Amino acid sequence: MNIAFFGVGNMGGPMAANLIQAGHTVRVFDLLPALVEAAVASGATAAASPREAVTGAEVVISMLPSAAAAQGLYLGDGAADAGILDAIDPAALIVDCSTIDAATSRALAARADELGRVLIDAPVSGGVGGARAGTLTFICGGPAEAVERARPLLETMGRNVFHAGDSGAGQTAKICNNMLLGILMAGTAEALQLGVDNGLDPAVLSAIMAESSGSNWALKVYNPWPGVMPEAPASHDYQGGFGVALMNKDLRLAQEAALRSCSTTPLGALAKSLYGFHAAAGGEGYDFSSIQRFYARGHEPSGQA
Ligand code: NAD
Repeated sequence: MNIAFFGVGNMGGPMAANLIQAGHTVRVFDLLPALVEAAVASGATAAASPREAVTGAEVVISMLPSAAAAQGLYLGDGAADAGILDAIDPAALIVDCSTIDAATSRALAARADELGRVLIDAPVSGGVGGARAGTLTFICGGPAEAVERARPLLETMGRNVFHAGDSGAGQTAKICNNMLLGILMAGTAEALQLGVDNGLDPAVLSAIMAESSGSNWALKVYNPWPGVMPEAPASHDYQGGFGVALMNKDLRLAQEAALRSCSTTPLGALAKSLYGFHAAAGGEGYDFSSIQRFYARGHEPSGQA
């Protein structure tokens, strides 16, 4: 298929590479030329503009950092820029994989519908490792038939494709998951720091908890203590992965949803506060597992497992 891909960052880059590996023709657009060059090196072609990217595309995929970016791309930012929706072939399927608020996803889908196009929200879970390995979980919102149309393509980038419900439901399910992830990562870092402060080896403690009732994804797949997992961002100065800024965005989205629905989410609120402090104290540019540093309180996790 001819695919237009917007946003080839930490996630979009490997997702586009997997589409190319599967034999699709992928034309990319990103604001950062270095990332476009990297995508071209893996077999993509570069588009000079967003409108050029969608010309002749049968599927349009976006993997952008924020609602403002998704809105700007699809709807434009006013009279000067009309966005790309009307330039997309009406027969094409539009899949927005960005994590954004459900209301914006619904607004994008509604505007697409007015213009005779179909847009689904399909935020992902599984991290950069999942994007590289093609094992992401896609959490879709929109008409069932559009999700089914997208399924074969999504399965080239992921292992699970869920239909959460109508437009925006994918985003709602995604922020529930990521609120839980933020809580679990903070809890895991807290437990590891307590163990190390009391003389335990973090690798030994991790192995014990991974087989005990405290086991969770953050501990087993994405361990926040440097050196416990050679592949995890913690073992690479917390570079790459899922940025603190993105986790803060998701925790904010979760709290906004909770306010609207009058839901009680004290742990989500506390996690948002912790990551907010961490960002303000210099953690902003690092992977979210660097919350471990917040707990170190002046005794940096040693780099030794
Ligand atoms: P990233 O910042 O690495 O990549 C986003 C890319 O989008 C950047 O390269 C940026 O230049 C580009 N971009 C921004 N505006 C654009 C526009 N108008 N047109 C084209 N490109 C544009 O972010 P990421 O880590 O790849 O995350 C992308 C999305 O996936 C976010 O919504 C994030 O919340 C979500 N997500 C990330 C992870 C993760 O582990 N990193 C996991 C699940 C979901």
